[in-house]
Amino acid sequence: MHEQTLAIHAGYDKDAMGTMAVPIYQTTAYEFRDSEHAANLFALKELGNIYTRLMNPTSDVFEKRFAALEGGVAAIATASGMAAIFYAIANVAEAGDNIIVAKQVYGGTTTLTGHTIKRFGIETRYFNVANPSEIEALIDEKTKIILFESITNPSIDVADLSAIVSIAQKHDIMTCVDNTVATPILCKPFESGVDVVVHSTSKYTTGQGLALGGIVVERHGLVDLIKDNDRYSHFNEPDESYHGLVYSDLPLPLFTLRVRLALMRDLGATPAPFNSWLNIQGLETLPLRMKQHSTSAMAIAEFLEAHPKVSKVNYPGLKSDANHANASKYMKGGFSGLLSFEVANKETAQKIADGTDIFAVVVNIGDSKSIITHPASTTHQQLSAQELIDAGVPGGLVRLSVGLEDTQDLIDDLTKALDNA
Ligand code: PLP
Repeated sequence: MHEQTLAIHAGYDKDAMGTMAVPIYQTTAYEFRDSEHAANLFALKELGNIYTRLMNPTSDVFEKRFAALEGGVAAIATASGMAAIFYAIANVAEAGDNIIVAKQVYGGTTTLTGHTIKRFGIETRYFNVANPSEIEALIDEKTKIILFESITNPSIDVADLSAIVSIAQKHDIMTCVDNTVATPILCKPFESGVDVVVHSTSKYTTGQGLALGGIVVERHGLVDLIKDNDRYSHFNEPDESYHGLVYSDLPLPLFTLRVRLALMRDLGATPAPFNSWLNIQGLETLPLRMKQHSTSAMAIAEFLEAHPKVSKVNYPGLKSDANHANASKYMKGGFSGLLSFEVANKETAQKIADGTDIFAVVVNIGDSKSIITHPASTTHQQLSAQELIDAGVPGGLVRLSVGLEDTQDLIDDLTKALDNA
């Protein structure tokens, strides 16, 4: 099936359910047929609903639909994108381990990997996403995952997925891509051999800035990497917290299953059923919206490139952009709605942000409503001067999330703001 059809139908059996729209299962718990049924569910002898912290039928449709769009085998929805990223890390790494992360990632991912998980005893080693050859020297026997973004936020680099995957495969290490900005419509990391994909679904997936959410998606056949791999011994040894369950022995997608059974059980960053329902509504139009976001962003990038006050435009759709070759290789149907540009300094950048009417000064991306952000003073404010440079966030950088308004209106809005800055 084509993706526009999957986006509307995958994961939901309307003939069995009898409703055109997916119902919202607004419930905390589920009634078991009897005690034996309950015991079987807890022992994983039967699969079924136990408690919404672990699973929910509305979230289940969202998870199946998202996995279908990514071309993955299974997914687990989370309360936010940050929860999804944390789960992907915590599912493989423990105190004494290390992970390898691109320098150019969302500010929250930098603080999570550089500060919060350090307190859990997990070390993060950083590489420049534009130079994957740096990865090899960072790997040792305690390295558990290589994490990077397909399109980076806000520096808008495009990762060379195959180059990173081939280094990881040489050492039997898992790769995890945050595909939030590209979306499963424009980029499919599993086709390049990536093992796990995470998203903040708070962005393009809901599409109108309606609901926080995240998702972890697993590729087909990930068991082959994990089975008998010493790096992932906890998947191959009995889990004492689950009566000696050995994940890699199960005929089930094991990465997302372990997130559900162990991490969701104990940490509980579960999505609200209503948020999963909003995400389902968003997915239905995601392919159509991504085309329009991309077309409009391309026109705006070309306009900015020709503007005398703009010294640099970062948009992978532009032929002049350093990431154009990677973008053309890994993206199909457009280059998404996120772009950034540089002006003389922080003051000019802030004046431009304050001078727009349609673009709202907001720290979000992927909304139908256009957004302008000054990352150095907002999303990336907690980063040190060196971290800002590493993340590609100079003071004069302005980020745009191009929405779905009329393109010419957006260009007129930016023209006015730039002229007055
Ligand atoms: N990943 C990327 C690329 C993001 O841009 C963001 C948020 O802006 C996140 C993850 C975090 O997602 P959330 O805000 O849903 O926790």
